[in-house]
Order: sequence, then C-alpha cells, then structure tokens
Amino acid sequence: MPPVFRFAPSPNGHLHLGHAYSALLNHDLARQTGGRLLLRIEDIDATRCRPEFEAAVYEDLAWLGIGWETPVRRQSEHFAAYGAAIDRLTAQGLVYPSFESRADIARLVADREAGGAWPRDPDGAPLYPGTAKSLAQTERERLIGQGAPFALRLDMAAACAHAGLLRWREQDDGPAGETGDMVARPEAWGDVILARKETPTSYHLSVVIDDALQGVTDVVRGADLFWSTSVHRLLQELLGLPVPTYRHHRLIRDTAGQKLSKSTQATALRALRADGASPADVRRLVSL
Ligand code: GLU
Repeated sequence: MPPVFRFAPSPNGHLHLGHAYSALLNHDLARQTGGRLLLRIEDIDATRCRPEFEAAVYEDLAWLGIGWETPVRRQSEHFAAYGAAIDRLTAQGLVYPSFESRADIARLVADREAGGAWPRDPDGAPLYPGTAKSLAQTERERLIGQGAPFALRLDMAAACAHAGLLRWREQDDGPAGETGDMVARPEAWGDVILARKETPTSYHLSVVIDDALQGVTDVVRGADLFWSTSVHRLLQELLGLPVPTYRHHRLIRDTAGQKLSKSTQATALRALRADGASPADVRRLVSL
C-alpha cells in the first residue's frame, strides 16, 4: 500500500510561507515515496473560517504546483461522525459536561494563581480548574434541562488509566533531533474540550477521526503540534483507531524569529505572488 500524506489547513486566513513549507514537504515526500497526497479543509470553527479563504487555499496550492486528490474532505460536513465518536467515549464513562463560561474559567485560574502556580498545558494555556467532573448526574441534567450552555470534556485521569502508557513513532528530522519512539504525555493537557455548544467537535477529535477515516499513514505537520500528538494517541487508543507515523517539521520564522501568523500579510503567498515571486522563489525562501 502506498503511503498517504495530507495537508490540512484551516481556512481562517491566507496561507503563508509556513503553510507553503508544510504543503510542499508533504507533496515532495508523497512524490519520493510513490505515495498519495490528500488535502483536508479544517473548517470546524464557523466564526473564523470563510469560503473566500478556502477558495484561496486551492488557488495558492495550485500556483505552487501542488496537486491533490478529490473530493476534498471538509470537516464542517462531518459533524455527525465526530458526534458518534463522542458518544463512544461517553459510553466508556470518559466524558463530562462543564458549564463555566470562558470568563468564569479565567476567574478560577486567577484565584488558583493567587494561591501559587497553576499548571499550564504545552501551549501555555492554564489547565481546566473547574469542578464540573464531580457534579452529580441530577445536577447536570437540571442545568442541561434549563438550557445552560456547556462544553464536553475528556476525563483525562480516567482516560489515561484506561489507555495506559502510549507511544508514537517520530520520523527522523523532527525538531530538536526528536526521533524514534516518543512517550505520549496526554495528562499535560488536563481535561481537554471535545465539543462546545457552538462547535460540536474539537481540533483534537476531528483530526484523529479524519486521519483514520482517510487512511493517512504519515502525518507531516509543524513542530507546534508536536505535543498535541499525545492527545491524538490517547484518542486513537480509546476509539480503536490506527496509528500513523508522525514527522513534526521545523517552523518557518520571520526575520525577528517569530512564528508566522495568518495576520501578517507580508509572508502571505498571495502577497509574495503579487510582488512577482515565483513558486521556485517560495521553495528557496523556505530552504526546500
Ligand atoms: N489545521 C491545523 C492547522 O492549520 C493543522 C492540523 C494538523 O496538521 O494536524 O494548523
């Protein structure tokens, strides 16, 4: 079976040099290995994703000389599949609703931090400080019956106890020379959100379902997602999904050494193109 690679952008802004590097690397690896390249549109966040950005993704990739298989999977068309996975986790007793708003959570974190350090996840966000896990079932039902908004969270301690020690295979070339068998540390993320009222799935959940459903064998993506793989391994284990190999590539930085952002227009592919850059120039700019 040929390897299956994928490029999975979120259409919430224009692609920049960092995306170009990721897409070209996936394209080149698929070429070199006789593999396939899939494109997936990660558009679960209806408040930030826009059709014109999705159209621009197709245009920019085609300009770079990248081809992909069709039909393209758009995550917003598959909420039912993600919901079914949440039902499976719920049946295992690993999911609970939490009712605090973002402002409530910020206040709880501030209270905890006033009493000393409060742990943060690998992205630097404070772990969930709430106590919704211990709410009685009757209280949950009462709040839900009243129409209170809630998020569904993974009971991380129970999920980790269920899954045991997990590893993933990191291909050579990872950041900081990380290569070989990595030990997953999902507990570092706390009780992650699996679904919200306005977005009935989450990045972590939809990415593992889609990689499995699409038969992805090689996940090649930015080093900023390296530690997310811990949560992905856990969800794969709980849902009985196959495990791809991973390769987290270096990030393209601006001249000040900062990670590129979709809001910085200077490195947007369309801005470079408008300035007369060619696809070969883009390859040179990302050292490919
Ligand atoms: N959609 C994610 C992003 O644009 C990438 C997800 C992944 O490659 O796993 O950053």
